[in-house]
Amino acid sequence: MSEAPLLNVVDLVKQFPLGGGILAKPRAWIKAVDGVSFAVSRGESFGLVGESGCGKTTLGRLILRLIEPSEGRIEIAGRDIIALSRSEMGALRRKIQIIFQDPYSSLDPRMKVEGIITEPLRATQKLSKKQRREVAAELLEKVGLRRIDLDKYPHEFSGGQRQRIGIARALCVRPELIVADEPVSALDVSIQAQVINLMEDLKEEFNLSYVFISHDLSVVQYICDRIAVMYLGGIVELASTRDFSVSTRHPYTEVLLKSVPLPDPHRRTEPFAMEGDVPNPIDPPTGCPFHPRCHYKFDRCSLEKPPLIEAAPDHLVACWLNGGQGLGMKIED
Ligand code: SF4
Repeated sequence: MSEAPLLNVVDLVKQFPLGGGILAKPRAWIKAVDGVSFAVSRGESFGLVGESGCGKTTLGRLILRLIEPSEGRIEIAGRDIIALSRSEMGALRRKIQIIFQDPYSSLDPRMKVEGIITEPLRATQKLSKKQRREVAAELLEKVGLRRIDLDKYPHEFSGGQRQRIGIARALCVRPELIVADEPVSALDVSIQAQVINLMEDLKEEFNLSYVFISHDLSVVQYICDRIAVMYLGGIVELASTRDFSVSTRHPYTEVLLKSVPLPDPHRRTEPFAMEGDVPNPIDPPTGCPFHPRCHYKFDRCSLEKPPLIEAAPDHLVACWLNGGQGLGMKIED
């Protein structure tokens, strides 16, 4: 029997009420996540990419069960975590940790680094203070900081160093899966590469899997084995990073790829104009949610929503157009 994936997300839906109150019904519902399914294997880095408001952060919070889904299933190593009680979930929580986007607000400014890193450890393991300090010191060194930094406060560090402390905190309970929510977007470009490389090294050393959430396709391509592109709460394309770099198949991914800056200043690309505005999630478009902005749309697109289907081996696409031919977009074109 084959091993269950480390993470299995099945038909996940999250709706938020708009307006209303204790006695009043909501005026409307916003579908932030709309029937999303994917699986992440052990040792895999899985990227979720899309514009702000596409539902990727909500999806990350659902996986961590920081919020409850409206429908669907989330399995960790074959166990449905939605069905778990609070205490059962507490025991499982050490398998899944998070790295937050903002290294400035995610660390308690009143706590010393030792206390910040060992906080999850205090809740889950019976270790003496001396043992906890030793664990924290070792982790600090793993993320490129020094033992003496244990006694400092967050304000004494740069943004990149604070994110390293956040990573050390996530590693403290030896998780199997880390959800990294825009972990480098608040950092200077020069620091971003250092933190990404650190996460890559730690993945090998600690045998981790990542769900890596970002609006930046170039960052996700660098660290992830597979990528899911999200638009208006749903996945519109899912493939290996290799497939993305050879040929993408969804018009929205095409736009995302064209917006990735080329590292070579001698090579030029024509600016790519996206049609229309981001649709209002309270009143999403009929048919394909991308049709108001799509260069390739035709009659069927505004009438029927395309399902996410396997357009090529292990390459899923939700678009009436391609039927598997692909758009021929390449990163290194
Ligand atoms: Fe564009 Fe139509 Fe494909 Fe939607 S289904 S992405 S509108 S071509």
